[in-house]
Amino acid sequence: MTEIDQTGTSTFIATPPWWIPMLSGGGAPVTSRGHAFLLVGEDGDEASLLGGFLAARHLCQQWDGEDPCGTCNSCRSFLQQAHGDFLRVTRQEGKVAIGIEQIRDATRFVQQTPLYGQSKVLLIEAAERMTLAAANSLLKTLEEPAGNTLILLASSGVWRLPATVRSRCQRVMIPRPTEDEALTWLSAQVACDASETLDRLAAAHGRPIVAWMAADATDVSLEATLSRSFEDMSNQQTLPSVWSSLPVETLLERLLVWIEAQARHSLSANHTGEGASWLTLHRCIAELSGRIKLGATPSQDILMTEVYRLCRSRGHRAFDDVAVRFLSSLGRVGYAG
Ligand SMILES: [Zn+2]
Repeated sequence: MTEIDQTGTSTFIATPPWWIPMLSGGGAPVTSRGHAFLLVGEDGDEASLLGGFLAARHLCQQWDGEDPCGTCNSCRSFLQQAHGDFLRVTRQEGKVAIGIEQIRDATRFVQQTPLYGQSKVLLIEAAERMTLAAANSLLKTLEEPAGNTLILLASSGVWRLPATVRSRCQRVMIPRPTEDEALTWLSAQVACDASETLDRLAAAHGRPIVAWMAADATDVSLEATLSRSFEDMSNQQTLPSVWSSLPVETLLERLLVWIEAQARHSLSANHTGEGASWLTLHRCIAELSGRIKLGATPSQDILMTEVYRLCRSRGHRAFDDVAVRFLSSLGRVGYAG
């Protein structure tokens, strides 16, 4: 379960709170109770997401009993979708079922020696799509997996799996969140206001993971366009169109996060002059953002143009003067560089 942050790197998303009782029912982590699990959800995507989460947690080299750490070698490979001990089996494009060859490859995979730690993890998504022959070829592995292998079958149509498969797995039922849990979690994942969050949740029939996945595709590309617009500022003469397409508050928030990252980067590389100018820019944008939060309603076009000009002047000799003028136009005299 990953998302892309402002710097373009993948991270694990926050654990949905309605998963928590299920993840450690009875005190011990759920996957310590066996080696083969059937993850059952109303929604197949949520079951697959849980499978990925349990896999990452099982493989994490610094696991502290909660979420995967996100920083060890194992987590980093997992986030880059390049973990040598994890195999995700899913229906191949254009096929209606998971065939026997895919399952044979998967059983060969779990018999190999682990590269990182002690385990191999196999996740079969939409497991009910396995042909009968494919399901039968998995039985022996489900019964006697090699070493410390973990096998996860994600499914939203568990009745379609042969009883022989079902009986060899422990069942993990994904509960439905309360509306409060769903809204709180979803609004932390998607950048939109309360009423839009409600609409998105309703459109997904109250299933926040589905709502988040539907939003994810558009948000990631918006995020990428926005980051590019920040990076290209010195080469561009005109206001990027993505700036005008966002509410001012959102744009300023993202800009602040980006500027802060640039400041941190310069200062940690001991480029103190550069770092100081990023901090000055940060102060200017933070002041402006504060004024807008207090109810100032400048014209969006004029404001964006001013902010753009200010950002572009950073790095030029006249920047300090431009920053002073910007701050005094907000009613602030001088600044602590
Ligand atoms: Zn880790």
